[in-house]
Amino acid sequence: MLYQRSSQLFAEAEKVIPGGVNSPVRAFKSVGGTPIFVKSAKGAYLFDEDGNKLIDYINSWGPMILGHAYEPVVNALVEKAKLGTSFGMPTALETEIAALAVSMVPNIDKIRFVNSGTEACMSAIRLARGYTKRDKIIKFAGCYHGHSDSFLIQAGSGAITFGSPNSPGVTAGTAKDTLLANYNDLANVASLFEANKDEIAAIIIEPVAGNMGCIPPKEGFLEGLRQLCDDNNTLLIFDEVMTGFRLASGGAQELLGIKADIACFGKVIGGGLPVGAFAARNEIMNYLAPLGPVYQAGTLSGNPLAMAAGLAMLQSLHSDKAIFSRLEEKTAYLEKGIAKVLNNNKIIHTINRVGSMISVHFDANPVFDFNSAKNGDNDTFKKFFHGLLKEGVYIAPSAYETWFITDALTYEDLDFTINAIDKVSKDL
Ligand code: PMP
Repeated sequence: MLYQRSSQLFAEAEKVIPGGVNSPVRAFKSVGGTPIFVKSAKGAYLFDEDGNKLIDYINSWGPMILGHAYEPVVNALVEKAKLGTSFGMPTALETEIAALAVSMVPNIDKIRFVNSGTEACMSAIRLARGYTKRDKIIKFAGCYHGHSDSFLIQAGSGAITFGSPNSPGVTAGTAKDTLLANYNDLANVASLFEANKDEIAAIIIEPVAGNMGCIPPKEGFLEGLRQLCDDNNTLLIFDEVMTGFRLASGGAQELLGIKADIACFGKVIGGGLPVGAFAARNEIMNYLAPLGPVYQAGTLSGNPLAMAAGLAMLQSLHSDKAIFSRLEEKTAYLEKGIAKVLNNNKIIHTINRVGSMISVHFDANPVFDFNSAKNGDNDTFKKFFHGLLKEGVYIAPSAYETWFITDALTYEDLDFTINAIDKVSKDL
């Protein structure tokens, strides 16, 4: 496949957009080459500016669970757009999607919509600090919670790829309130509590990590965090921006049976439009303005297009629970197929998977935290990525990303992908 027009478009973009992209990982910096420019997408496929058709394993970094240009979402958008695109005033639609989300997610009474996952996590932390009247938070190395200052500290995926985990511009004052722990290391978290008695407002965590590849929580890890939070009057925040409405209709809280105090959402909850949300029980959510003292706002928050797309998406996920078992079966099939061809071709690897989140690491050892994720062979990953691109299979352009499986994928697509991996493996 040729990518000539994409290269030309990238050169033009670089003149007027920093690095040619509006979000860093898109730039192919860690794999080399130039990014693919998309013209359109439908179902499981991307169609690029050179006329290539690619099977998509990124799916807009998660939200296209039901495929691109999913008809109920597109129809809802077209109809709503005719009625006005933003009012900055309440609409009945906001209550409708909020009520549906509250009915789907365990352990929440109220939800507030924002415009991105970043905003959701940033607001959740402010709420936790206001509610507990404490300043410090614990985050895990390799977890990404958006690009707000408190979180740009060993932040996984894009931040690792670009080699500047502690971004210039984040002040020392902000950084000192973010305590870092190792994922899956409960003793490490317990020692932070001991050293910072009555100072920790919240632990924020991806309940299944997706920004250092896919990393499942070890048995007892999240339960242990829950207990530490209860013992120390600290809030447990689940960042479900990737896992929410994907691992189960009630997200990781439902799948893993652990209660969070605040849950953050993004991407999926807007059906692909710029939406995020955070949610909790009444006693916490009532701390938010205009009811309570913690300020949080947004001109475009809850705007009708985003809410219409999100509602259509959540309604589909709510009405067909079999979606989640289909996703599980398809991803398990893919996992088995990839393992078989990589083993046949004697490629050292580890595959991690939870539901429809999966990652392939070129390392023989278990990958369970940020340090073990960094051990993967990046040169092999680069060859793997470019090899697959030539075959028409698009995975994320970084070794630290998770693949997101869509229900639009057919078993023929999965077989095509496994064959492509077989071919590419022979040259690794
Ligand atoms: N949290 C997690 C777990 C994420 O994966 C992301 C984005 N990849 C974010 C937060 C930030 O979301 P957004 O890019 O919409 O700001």
